[in-house]
This record gives sequence, structure tokens and C-alpha cells, in this order.
Amino acid sequence: MECLFCKIAKKEIPSEIIYEDEKILAFKDIKPVAPIHILIIPKKHIPSVAHAGIEDKALLGELILVAQKIAREQGIAKKGYRLSFNVGKDAGQVVEHLHLHLMGGEKLPFP
Ligand code: AMP
Ligand code: ZN
Repeated sequence: MECLFCKIAKKEIPSEIIYEDEKILAFKDIKPVAPIHILIIPKKHIPSVAHAGIEDKALLGELILVAQKIAREQGIAKKGYRLSFNVGKDAGQVVEHLHLHLMGGEKLPFP
């Protein structure tokens, strides 16, 4: 059975899409923790950063460049934003499909 984010990538489950290309989809987080909270995912199912291989090298870079582009478009590039990959249980990863959190729009508490 396909995971939640695979279903979102295939539009089987609706999401508020912010960006899409052949390999990547970005959509609004359903429970935002910041005024702007967007998830950037590869359409390919990779469970987490820990499961990415050398063949995913370019894709991982593209996720970050898409985040940079969205940050500019959302008007938060100058003030700053946070990008984070949660990897595994201790980091609080809940959805086992690699995703990059883009958060901003206010001064963010650390972590
Ligand atoms: P993580 O804890 O890193 O696995 O983050 C998973 C994120 O996915 C959380 O911030 C959730 O709010 C978000 N999320 C879960 N289900 C959906 C959904 N259907 N649409 C958008 N975001 C979701
Ligand atoms: Zn998946």
C-alpha cells in the first residue's frame, strides 16, 4: 500500500499545492507551526534521508533549490526561514516519506 505522501503526490488525496514539477511536489502543511509551513517532497517514495542513496544526490539538492524558490515567492527569503528534515522517531518523523519542512513568516523559536 502506498504511503500518505505518495497519495498526495498522485493527487489521490487533496493538498494545497504550492509547486510541482516532474520529480517534486510542494504543498501546505495541514498543521502549520509557522505562518508559512510548506512540505517539499520527492514524488519518488524514499522513506527518509537515511534511506537516500547516491542515486538521489541530485534530487536532494533539487528539494533545497525548490525550497529556496518558494521562500522567495512567499516573500520570506530576506527575513529568513528554516529548512528541516526529520529523520526517524527521535526527530519526530511521523510520515515515512522523505519531506523537507520550509517554515517562516515570523521569528522562529529554536528548535
Ligand atoms: P514529520 O513529523 O516530519 O513526519 O512531518 C509530517 C508533517 O506532515 C506534519 O507537519 C503534518 O502536519 C504534515 N501532514 C500530515 N498529513 C498531511 C496532509 N494530509 N496534508 C498536509 N500535511 C500533512
Ligand atoms: Zn511514499
